[in-house]
Amino acid sequence: MTKILEGCWDCEYCGTKLIRGGLRNCPGCGHPRDKNVKFYLGEARHYVEHPEDIDPNPDWICSFCDALNPNDAAYCEGCGASKEDSERNYFEQRRLEEEQNKPKEEPRPQGSPIRFLLMLGIVAAIFFAFVSRAIPRTKTITITDKQWTRTEEIEVYKAVEESSWSLPAEAYNVKTRSEVYAYENVLSHYVTRYRTVAHQVLDGYDTYTTYEDMGNGYFREVEHSTPRYRTEYVTEEYQEPVYIRMPIYRDKYYYTLEKWIVDRTLTTSGDGDEEPHFKKVKLGEGERIGTQIEEYTIIVNRKTYSTSFDIWQEAEVGRKYKVTISDYKITKMEAVKK
Ligand SMILES: [Zn+2]
Ligand SMILES: [Zn+2]
Repeated sequence: MTKILEGCWDCEYCGTKLIRGGLRNCPGCGHPRDKNVKFYLGEARHYVEHPEDIDPNPDWICSFCDALNPNDAAYCEGCGASKEDSERNYFEQRRLEEEQNKPKEEPRPQGSPIRFLLMLGIVAAIFFAFVSRAIPRTKTITITDKQWTRTEEIEVYKAVEESSWSLPAEAYNVKTRSEVYAYENVLSHYVTRYRTVAHQVLDGYDTYTTYEDMGNGYFREVEHSTPRYRTEYVTEEYQEPVYIRMPIYRDKYYYTLEKWIVDRTLTTSGDGDEEPHFKKVKLGEGERIGTQIEEYTIIVNRKTYSTSFDIWQEAEVGRKYKVTISDYKITKMEAVKK
């Protein structure tokens, strides 16, 4: 059974406080309670003996004299005006007052645009630092020195011992040996292990009471209850798989093969005074020239730039040039007129 308590109200005309909710007129000045009245619960709790006799509906406000009237009254007890002409009840009046007293909300400042620009700047700087090396830039330089290096590999055709998992067609003296090709994890067995698992267990209920304004001088008692949980730890058994690392064997081929292999590397270098050339070489029996590498560099103070043979040849030490540099490489060069 719902419990109902009698609330209180204050008279704004004579200042009488803690007037019982059951009274419609102020005992001090006789003024009927009106639309400005707010019901509240006093320190003492007065439970109504017969809660079934209390109308659950709020008071209505007379549109002509502002008096509060009980729900079951068809006419205003103060002036006799009809309930049908009433525009608001007690709660509707409270809501209206709340809206009128609500402070105007200031528009919230949005995320600072300065911070956004700063972030953008940092990202751009990192990006620029990353790619700027590769961005071609033009610059005027005076050549300090220039150098060339030419390297060539001398190859010899001879029989070599090799091994492989597949057999080349030209191989001879072939032998095979079973060797570990790879490893795989194979399930061996399971071991029983234990682990602690947390469970949420219902521990009881937290209860509290609130009082609901009925809008007619009375309050309804409402009991609330929320479940409370506690953590319980349980030891659980489980099976953990154990794997073993098993080698996979395959036939590996050991064989002799005739092929071109690098026998020696010859390097020559010089500066601008000497025409670039490969080292003079007399090839022996079964020898040939393999890979040839040419490198041309232009030195400006202590910086070294690589470049093409054509640009290098044209470059004069001590002369001024307008150059395009990309990734430490001079890609374009034009003499500056004296
Ligand atoms: Zn009064
Ligand atoms: Zn009235």
